[in-house]
Parts: sequence; structure tokens; C-alpha cells
Amino acid sequence: MKSSICVIGAGIQGVCISLHLIKKGFKVTLIDRDEPGNSASYGNAGHFSPYASVPINRPDILLDVPAMLLSSTGPLALKWNYVPKMIPWFIKFIKNCSKKKMMHTAKYMHQILDLALPAYDELFQDIDLSGLVENRGIIYFWTDKDLKSRELEINIRKELGAEQVLLKPHEIHDLEPHIRQIYHGGVLYPSARHARNPGKILNRLFDLFLKQGGKFKKENVETINFSSDDKPLIKTNLNSYNFDKAVVSCGAFSKQLTDLVNEKIPLDTERGYHVHFKGNDHLLSRPVIFLNRGFGITPMEQGLRAVGTVEFGGLKNPPTKKRIINLVNNAKYLFPDLSEHYDEWLGFRPTLPDFLPVMGPSKNHKNLFYSFGHHHLGWTLGAISGKIISGMVSGDNTNLNLDPYSSTRFS
Ligand SMILES: Cc1cc2nc3c(=O)[nH]c(=O)nc-3n(C[C@H](O)[C@H](O)[C@H](O)COP(=O)(O)OP(=O)(O)OC[C@H]3O[C@@H](n4cnc5c(N)ncnc54)[C@H](O)[C@@H]3O)c2cc1C
Repeated sequence: MKSSICVIGAGIQGVCISLHLIKKGFKVTLIDRDEPGNSASYGNAGHFSPYASVPINRPDILLDVPAMLLSSTGPLALKWNYVPKMIPWFIKFIKNCSKKKMMHTAKYMHQILDLALPAYDELFQDIDLSGLVENRGIIYFWTDKDLKSRELEINIRKELGAEQVLLKPHEIHDLEPHIRQIYHGGVLYPSARHARNPGKILNRLFDLFLKQGGKFKKENVETINFSSDDKPLIKTNLNSYNFDKAVVSCGAFSKQLTDLVNEKIPLDTERGYHVHFKGNDHLLSRPVIFLNRGFGITPMEQGLRAVGTVEFGGLKNPPTKKRIINLVNNAKYLFPDLSEHYDEWLGFRPTLPDFLPVMGPSKNHKNLFYSFGHHHLGWTLGAISGKIISGMVSGDNTNLNLDPYSSTRFS
């Protein structure tokens, strides 16, 4: 008989892992404290970004941080009450900003990003996606002020073989004529796709999981213990369960569980926000990112979704109204005639200081697996992570080098 597996967390990671495990014939129970579709996997910018292998841990970022923090329109903010708690993470991040570490992250992000879209194509065969995914690429643009930093990114992506088309201002205007012409240059990533409603896609994949015999429990996992033969015993707010194996895929909340099994993984969160401008989605044909201000706008079913900013402030602090105002003002800077915004949303990117995810077995328990920490790219990497983790759970051979994603790198 096939083993019973518990997947904890029904974001894009957990749902894709569950679907791949079902395909392999496992009995899968997915547990989430919430209905699927309220997490980071609902509110993101919807980019499928297979080209985006250049990480944020770059040598030049450290020089840019003070200016970013001081700028009222800039992409970065801190909740000061959280800074002391984040100091160990910041120190590890700084150590990962050397050129060598940056290239290591870029190489191993590229390894999985390159497989991300084919992995989705496999899962998407079985759901109705009409009108929900567009293949029109993504445009990044910038002003002269930001040019130097863009060159580094463009050069590394070229080295790794990412398809990119440099754009002159008039070419950006031809592609997206409604944006105010504040830019001096840009780049189109033609291989990128975008979701017109990430929450709806997540729910369609979740419904497929149920249709294929998967079980769902809406419960909060409180502890993970282990039997004498090292099998996981999961205790929730309502029940206790025995499984053969378990996977933790709780996004930014995963650390609460990994701490309980005595593994000190330095996961933290980069908080991000979105707002919607109803009925304005005709103003854009594809997502755009204005790099100087670190935010983007995606045309979605809900209207234009303005999304972005990085705020270090942990999981418990309330949303910061100033970040929302910043996002609204930035969107109106590009589109001065936008209507009133609605749906002010805060979400939690799960981020490790080396900007690689953790995917693999736990250091201490062979029947416990992890898949979290996909930071700005967790939506893109849902299906491929599902494939990788289901392969690890069933002990398949792979020609990928999966060691760089192991949690043991932090031991
Ligand atoms: C503003 C913003 C924009 C983004 N844009 C993009 C983008 O354009 N492209 C891209 O690729 N990525 C993007 N991302 C990143 C991406 O959204 C995340 O990396 C990804 O959604 C993480 O998925 P996940 O399944 O790991 O976690 P989540 O989606 O956070 O899901 C975790 C789930 O675990 C559940 N959970 C937590 N603890 C417990 C517990 N103890 N018991 C039971 N359940 C629990 C939660 O309820 C939740 O449902 C963006 C993120 C943000 C915040």
C-alpha cells in the first residue's frame, strides 16, 4: 500500500506538492488553518518569471540601501520595533552579498526557474484556465538614475541564457502607450507569463486535488512529534494524526514548525502590499515593473493590481498605511487618471538570507520534508517545487543538483 503523506500549508507550494504526490499514487491529506487562497499565493503580482535568476543578495545592494530607506517613494521600509529581532538575518544576508555567493544563488535559481513553466504546463493540462494566464512577457523600465544596477542584472541573465529584449523609450511606448513616459530604458522578458487571478488559479488546482481523491482539513498545525520509527505525529487545534511522511510548506510561517523540531533555519519575511484599481485593466497589456521605485502593476480580473515594496517587519506587526499610500501614489505617477483604489492587502514573502529556497528532508527526521523560502518567486516556482519534493518523498533519482537547497546549509 502507498504511504500516507501530510502536506501542511495550502499555498501554491502545498497545493502543487499535493497534486504531484497524488499523481505518484500517495494518499495525501492537505492541512491549512485557512481556506486556500488567502495567503501570499493569492495576493502576489502574478508573474511567472523564469528569467528572474539574479538574486537580491548582490554586492551593489548594500550601497543602495540607505538611499532606498530615506526615499519617500522608494521600495524599502523597516518596522523599527522588529529591527533587533532581524539583526541575525541581516548579518547572514550581508555575508551572502559577495559576488561569489550571488553567482551561486543565480546558478541554482536558474536551475529550477528554467523548469518552472514546463512543470506548470503539466499541471495546467487538467484545469480550465480560460482567460486566466496570458503569454505577453513582462516589461521592466527605469530612468537614467538606475541604469548602472540594471546593467549587472542584464549581463548575468545574458550569461545564464535568459531571453531578453532591450527596449528604447519609443519601443516601451509602442508596447504600453498609456504609461506616462517617465522612463529612459527598459527590457522585455518575452518568456514571462502572467496570471490574471492567482487566487482563482490556486483554487482550481486545489479543486483538482480534491477531485483526484485528496483530503483537506481546515485546522491549525500546532506541533509535530515523531514515533519510535521516526514517523510524524501531527497535532492540530482539533485532532492528532499519524502519517508515514509529512511536508512543511507554510510559506513565511514555516519557521514556527521547524523551530519545534529543533532545526534553526533563518527564515524571515519580506512584507509586500497590493491595491486594486477597478476597471482599469485595459490600460496595460502585460505586467510592468518600475525599477527605481521597486513596484509593479499587473492587469488582472480585479482591475490593475499595483503591487510591491519590501518591508522588514515580521509576521505580527499590523499593515503600514504609509506603504499603501506610497503604492497608490506610485501607481498614479505612472497613470495619473486612475480611479480610487480598493482592497488594501499585506502579504508575507518567505525569505532566507541567501535567497535560495529550502527544499529537501529535515536534518533531524528522514520522514519530514520542507518546501518554503521561495521569496519573490514562490508563485513561479510552485509547480517545479511540487515535482521536486514529490520525487524526494518517493525516493526517485534526479539529474538535478538539489544539495544547494538543503536546510543543512544553515547548520
Ligand atoms: C506582494 C507580493 C508580490 C509577489 N509577487 C510574486 C510574483 O509576481 N511572482 C512570483 O513568482 N512570486 C511572487 N511573490 C511571492 C509568492 O507569492 C510567494 O513566494 C508564494 O506565494 C509562497 O507560497 P507558499 O505556498 O510557500 O506560502 P503561502 O502562499 O504563504 O501559503 C502558506 C500557507 O500555510 C498556511 N499555514 C501557515 N502556518 C500553518 C499552520 N501552522 N497550520 C496550518 N496551516 C498553516 C497558511 O494559512 C497559508 O495558506 C509575491 C509575494 C508578495 C507578498
